[in-house]
Amino acid sequence: EGASASAATEPPKQYPKGVILGKDGKPCRPCNTFASFTAQSKSTLKAAATQGPPKDCPPDVEQLGRSTWTLLHSIAATYPPRPTPKEQSDIKDFMRLFSKLYPCWVCAEDFQSYVEKKEVKAGSREEFGNWLCEAHNEVNRKLGKPTFDCSKWEERWRTGWKD
Ligand code: FAD
Repeated sequence: EGASASAATEPPKQYPKGVILGKDGKPCRPCNTFASFTAQSKSTLKAAATQGPPKDCPPDVEQLGRSTWTLLHSIAATYPPRPTPKEQSDIKDFMRLFSKLYPCWVCAEDFQSYVEKKEVKAGSREEFGNWLCEAHNEVNRKLGKPTFDCSKWEERWRTGWKD
């Protein structure tokens, strides 16, 4: 009681402009780049921008994103070529829950809208792999990154590159 009453009267903390806050009002680590919430001296800023967070620190938005895409595309790579109805409903349930639970809440909100707009396609490995590749490309476009040629998703994530 007391703690929350005094917290309510405290003036809001000032965080660097553009830093995304979490539901607790504090900077949301998995929503921001490491550089955007670390000390602002020139040398640390340069290191943070090029290296990201140290390996044993909580992930920033980029490290979390890379690891998550690795997991999702690897799930697509091992999804059956001819899934049963249960396997199809499992992957759809998984993606729906995933889009709700993703730790970067701003990313999650946009991804939920995408999943509502473009229903998960899970009729085969090829179908799900392509759906996921298109979903990743939508995020790439939003962030101004190059899009990926989805005819190559299987080489990137399942078979390895052809010689
Ligand atoms: P990543 O985009 O992480 O990609 C990793 C590797 O996947 C690439 O090196 C490439 O080899 C391969 N790849 C690239 N595109 C495709 C594709 N279309 N299909 C198959 N393989 C591909 N970050 C934000 O700042 N804001 C957001 O709103 C945001 N939303 C996200 C939503 C989700 C669901 C996820 C998983 C991540 C989100 N991210 C967001 C993180 C962002 O997508 C990147 O992961 C992060 O910026 C690091 O990018 P990267 O350049 O290392 O490559």
